[in-house]
Amino acid sequence: MAEVKTQEFQRASVKALADAKLQSLLGRSMGTFDGARQEAIEELTPQRWEEMREKGRAIKRHTLDNLDYYLELLYDRVTQNGGQVHFARDAQEARNIVGQIARSRGLKLAIKSKSMVSEEMSLNPYLEEMGVEPVETDLGEYIIQLAQETPFHIIAPAMHKTKEDVSQLFEEKIQRPNLKNIEEMAGAAREVLREKLVNADMGITGANFLVAETGTLVLVTNEGNGRFCTSVPRVLVSITGMEKLIPSLEDLGVFMRLLPRAATGQRITSYVTHVSGPRRSDDEDGPEEFHLVIVDNGRSRLLQDPDLRESLYCIRCGACLNICPVYHKVGGHAYGWVYPGPIGAVVSPVMVGLNKAKDLPHASSLCGACRDVCPIKINIPRMLLKLRTQLAESSDSTQRKVSIGEKLMAKGYRRLMSSPKLLSLTHRLGRLAQRPLLRKGLIRTIPFPPFSRWTRSRDLPPLASKPFRQIWAEKLGKER
Ligand code: SF4
Repeated sequence: MAEVKTQEFQRASVKALADAKLQSLLGRSMGTFDGARQEAIEELTPQRWEEMREKGRAIKRHTLDNLDYYLELLYDRVTQNGGQVHFARDAQEARNIVGQIARSRGLKLAIKSKSMVSEEMSLNPYLEEMGVEPVETDLGEYIIQLAQETPFHIIAPAMHKTKEDVSQLFEEKIQRPNLKNIEEMAGAAREVLREKLVNADMGITGANFLVAETGTLVLVTNEGNGRFCTSVPRVLVSITGMEKLIPSLEDLGVFMRLLPRAATGQRITSYVTHVSGPRRSDDEDGPEEFHLVIVDNGRSRLLQDPDLRESLYCIRCGACLNICPVYHKVGGHAYGWVYPGPIGAVVSPVMVGLNKAKDLPHASSLCGACRDVCPIKINIPRMLLKLRTQLAESSDSTQRKVSIGEKLMAKGYRRLMSSPKLLSLTHRLGRLAQRPLLRKGLIRTIPFPPFSRWTRSRDLPPLASKPFRQIWAEKLGKER
């Protein structure tokens, strides 16, 4: 399992907020993704988009409701096509399967196309330890591998790096000095990677979709590296979660309209690669062996929970990250595990343990923007609330997030809001108490806890001179 740092969310967020360079990068890039998504939807027409979202959601629901049937169908079809299917309960088992394939065939150089599940498994260090060189071939992933970091975003793993950062990295790690622009950097990476691509004996990929009726793995990429990884090495190993299953090629058409538009605002990506087993006698290229590793690693727990199950509908487009006001400020690394952003705040606590990720369900304003942009209409805010309830009500003290102080505050708040007289008195007292704290019309700092945490990174508007209920009463009086 990849290193879990979800416990450090608060500390990592404070660090990210204080990082001026990161804040400027996030400010510049986040809107671009969502702008492209909106334009693509306008072009398709919002009405058609809604129809597609409903269809996509219905297909995912149907597939997960009949997962045993579709898994068996996929198994049969891949096997009939000449491939081998392996099931792994957790990251360790998945690593062992991949390791065994590499060891028994004497494989030494593995080229990888982007795979989030391989991040879950920490596959690269494992392969290195056993003497297999793993090389990431997606440009963003390659940058991250050179920097020895983890992905910052589901679809743009190196988006937190500036041109200058990458230029310096390439100079240090691959001895390509003075690269000035992105074309030069991409060219340098291509030179290094091409040699690896043609010499690799093992290809490792993830999967965007698994089509059960044909036993086909579908990869959606923009760089063509996925096609290289699936066609050149003699052994291909594809590692994926079982939630990538869809019933038929006809269903794939729906997701191919949804995924590129939601992710990058494209009608379709540059490459859509289908792999249906090893090379046949009349094929010009393709692997001699094809292994499909289907990994659970906590997905069964999500599947069994009726409240969280729909998180498995996710097609990893990243749209919820691009719209999330929390992700916009803290970025991807603060979340501390493989999946950042709103969907990460739901799946990580279940996959790594709620007691290790207590802060993640609270990393949301519950504004609902993630649900609105999600191509599968996944109701993330509802699931975050569910996890918050679990944390508040848990009898396990290592899981419980809510302190006695917070519980008392919630009780006091309920009492206050159900008594107009008490509310009015508190408002008057609050107006008096806030006077020494006001600076240019805002409360910039409250010196005593727990309120001091509110003003650590934001200003607070003062209590209004005239409360809403008074304005409302006066308006009603005038209209009578
Ligand atoms: S939850 Fe929805 S918006 Fe977020 S990555 Fe998954 S499919 Fe995309």
